[in-house]
Amino acid sequence: MNLVVVSNRVSRASANEPMTGGLAAALLPVVEKSGAIWVGSSGRVRDGAQKEPFAEIEALGTGALAMLDLPAAHYGGYYEGFANSALWPALHSRTDLIRTSQDDYQSYREVNSFMARALLRFRKPEAVFWIQDYHFLALGAEMRDLGVTHPIGFFLHTPWPTRAIIGGVPHHRELVEAMLAYNLIGFQTDDDRDNFLSYIKFDLGLDIADGVVASRFGTSRCAVFPIGIDPAKFAAHAAKAASHPDVSRLRRSLHGEKLAIGVDRVDYSKGLVNRIEAFDRILTLQPQLNRAVSLLQIATLSRGTIEAYGDLQNQLAKLVSDVNGRHGEVDWTPIRYLNKGYSQTVLAGLYRTAQVGLVTPLHDGMNLVAKEYVAAQNPVDPGVLVLSKFAGAANELDTALLVNPHDIDGMARTIATAFSMPLVERRMRWEAMMAKLRAGTIQDWFTDFVDALQDAHAASEKAAGQKVPAELPAVWPVRSFSSIGGTRLH
Ligand code: UDP
Repeated sequence: MNLVVVSNRVSRASANEPMTGGLAAALLPVVEKSGAIWVGSSGRVRDGAQKEPFAEIEALGTGALAMLDLPAAHYGGYYEGFANSALWPALHSRTDLIRTSQDDYQSYREVNSFMARALLRFRKPEAVFWIQDYHFLALGAEMRDLGVTHPIGFFLHTPWPTRAIIGGVPHHRELVEAMLAYNLIGFQTDDDRDNFLSYIKFDLGLDIADGVVASRFGTSRCAVFPIGIDPAKFAAHAAKAASHPDVSRLRRSLHGEKLAIGVDRVDYSKGLVNRIEAFDRILTLQPQLNRAVSLLQIATLSRGTIEAYGDLQNQLAKLVSDVNGRHGEVDWTPIRYLNKGYSQTVLAGLYRTAQVGLVTPLHDGMNLVAKEYVAAQNPVDPGVLVLSKFAGAANELDTALLVNPHDIDGMARTIATAFSMPLVERRMRWEAMMAKLRAGTIQDWFTDFVDALQDAHAASEKAAGQKVPAELPAVWPVRSFSSIGGTRLH
């Protein structure tokens, strides 16, 4: 098997650099070990025809990274436009934030089609394609239209919302029909899969048998593959990071005060405003906790050119300074708010320093930070995870303190409970969560999906009574992009 993994961006982050998000963090270690080719945008755009489709190909562990310059004329409409201003808000149940146009949709389809043509060079007989996330809902259909009959799977890292909400996305029907070109469609949770199947049944009027749907493309299986982490790696990082200067400086600065930590991209799905308001409420309602507890919020800036993100950055900066202004003292600041990223090694040390981990999204596909916080704890004195019931991780980490992030007072009370939880209870909850993390690692996720994809493809071929064709030529169809150099994206 030649596995070809495709995502919008690839990651080359070393152990000393921050990850750009959960998808990169999850894929990097497994792609490195699996010998797969990981294809994605180079981070540059290019005007005009590309004689060679890929800007760069480089080794990645036993596999390779193939990085493509995407077409400049369509990148903005595809990425900031349709993907992140129509699909992302809808997938996180924020249809009120949809801002898009027909041109954006056109660009989204163009980039999906461009990527499909680029992938033809990997169309070896034993190739298996695994497409990642909402940037490429239509990529499988584009590949099928080019004659690709290989296994093609898709995994959605975000939630899939209810029918009414997905109905708010322009061209939703066309997109969901296109998704049925995938032999296997993977979701993070049962709710996500059930919402998708409900759309298939009631909006497309198709029959479903055991999660399998038949369409003009063949059969597609819809199934759940909760993404995991490598808990042993995080535990080792956390133990080692204690001596890292950032971690030891943080420890020294606490003077016996208890710490809560949050680590998020600045995104409206993450519930950051509600979290800061809950922290404010704790300090107001329980003044004895002033100087006794504080919050370290790492908030990496993301998608800043999109208005909703810029607005949120401003709102948070103002809110944090307001809380610090009201509760701070000459020698004490309740919230340390940092707009910068840390490597996962340092993060592991920071997680371990904090007695409470706050992961309180309004909606989140999985949320790997929740799992990482647990894995990084000291087994003899573990911290407490306060987790939103709307994070995918809540399905597995059900012995965390689960909260409703819309209930600010309830969240404030739960955070206060977390700070004062006795050791016996902390250990009991932590051990139950660790057992779940060890039972579903990132490696399990990867192999389970790839095995299921091959089975789903065989089932589709059988249903269609087809045979996999012999080797097809690698083709790069000529398109009208003329090569005038790449431009780095910001
Ligand atoms: N991350 C990192 N450095 C940072 C902040 C985050 O490496 O400073 C990583 C973090 O370890 C996690 C990922 O980025 O693996 C965030 O994934 P998550 O699923 O929590 O959220 P997403 O950003 O994908 O929505």
